Amino acid sequence: MRPVNGLHHITAISGNAQENVDFYAGVLGMRLVKKSVNQDDPGTYHLFYADAEGHPGTDLTFFPWEQMAPPTIGHGLAAEVQLEVPVGSLVFWGERLERYGATVSRIERRLGHDVLPLVDPHGMRVALVADETRRAFEPWRGSAVPVERQVRGLYGARLWERDAAATVAFMQTRMGFEKLAEYDGWTRYSVREAAGVVDIRETPSERRGRWGIGAVHHLAWRVDDDAHQLAVREQVEEGGANATPVIDRFWFKSVYFKEPGGVLFELATDGPGFAVDEDPAHLGESLVLPPFLEPQRERIEAVLPALTLPTIDR
Ligand code: ZN
Repeated sequence: MRPVNGLHHITAISGNAQENVDFYAGVLGMRLVKKSVNQDDPGTYHLFYADAEGHPGTDLTFFPWEQMAPPTIGHGLAAEVQLEVPVGSLVFWGERLERYGATVSRIERRLGHDVLPLVDPHGMRVALVADETRRAFEPWRGSAVPVERQVRGLYGARLWERDAAATVAFMQTRMGFEKLAEYDGWTRYSVREAAGVVDIRETPSERRGRWGIGAVHHLAWRVDDDAHQLAVREQVEEGGANATPVIDRFWFKSVYFKEPGGVLFELATDGPGFAVDEDPAHLGESLVLPPFLEPQRERIEAVLPALTLPTIDR
């Protein structure tokens, strides 16, 4: 069995695109590394925020689907996105987030690390985790946030499950996860030393979760290359999942499937990366379309709202 290599990206559903840019690129200071469209719904944006180079494992992406209803938070859904920040930076972050009107909770301790839970402008639960895991991270010099405080990448996610045992068995035997620890009703899993944990809680009396503005859409797990992706695809199919064929997303290749509890997972290759169709110095500045949508550029640009990058405010 070939394990996955931790988190590749997390994709969520947001409201207004400009408000999403203002929060993630402005307040949180992440780099907008790709401004594209939803390949299955090209009238809407797909926005990617990451470190300066868009390393796998640093990337949080959004579909701004303003017309959608709020989600039903329930089982079969990821209920929180965890971002890694440097140890000792949470007081800075608490003050900065409050200054810009974010809803911030008190700092709590989880498994020996300080964690700052907050709610983003469209209702998504985010937690800043003060820890420094071994990961590829390139600071973004164009950020409003000083280099020594910057978001370093994806730390993990929380999942609610109706039947945790089925999901856990699947993730252990088909994807290589191992149990790390338990805390406050959550059980944490990860793949060896790879960055990207999953905290699972069994919530049998909750409703089935449903997507909406402020919900996580899917979690993508890293695979090295095409061969690794096909091997894991076969493993999850043998475990009962119904996986899609390989889809070329141009910055990486993707396979999608639902784990037994219903959370949408993806297997995403490390390469070729975000610099394949843009100058690395100017990532995210102009609208990038996959080759098959390029002939429709004029029509697509006409329906997308204009987006401006937040001005630097240190
Ligand atoms: Zn994805």
